[in-house]
Amino acid sequence: MADTVTDDHGHEHPKHELSHYAKRIYAIRELLVEKGVITEKDIQCQIEYQEARTPANGAKLVARAWTDPAFKARFIADPKAACAEMGIDATAINEFVVLENSEKVRHMVVCTLCSCYPRPILGRPPDWYKSFNYRQRSVADPRGVMREFGLELPDDIEVRVHDSTADIRYIVLPLRPAGSENLSAADLEKLVTRDSMIGVMDALPAIPE
Ligand code: FE
Repeated sequence: MADTVTDDHGHEHPKHELSHYAKRIYAIRELLVEKGVITEKDIQCQIEYQEARTPANGAKLVARAWTDPAFKARFIADPKAACAEMGIDATAINEFVVLENSEKVRHMVVCTLCSCYPRPILGRPPDWYKSFNYRQRSVADPRGVMREFGLELPDDIEVRVHDSTADIRYIVLPLRPAGSENLSAADLEKLVTRDSMIGVMDALPAIPE
């Protein structure tokens, strides 16, 4: 066995510095390669695939939904088919649901149990999404969490919190910002943040404040 391991970011670490679980993962990985179950190339390809999944996928879907009402209807009715249409592979998600925000209702997504997240669409979840603090407070005080992201909602706007599971993953379709009517799809994508698709904030304003 080698004395160092290379992590997913290309950094070398001496093995004795690794945590118990990391040592175990690398040991399993070496055994799987040694026994010919998988190859180093398979692992690299999988890492590249995981890294290629970013919130840009979600932003493309949202910008298209804002500009193409027929696509928006398909995206809401059959999100996975709409993803396939845009060249985004959402097949790993069991049930995928689009939550459309409106002037009356804002949606917010959490996984109270662990960190279930629509990774093919948004990439890796941010650390705060996995924190006990967010998982607990998003349910107990969603408006308070939104306020910390800079979104102050009047009382007459309803907030609905959705709990993701292994079986069901959500994306929030944020409201199209006022004043964005003349923007191209490429410029609209820049207004669609990861956090707006989790629902803790709105899309960015069309004209920077
Ligand atoms: Fe989870």
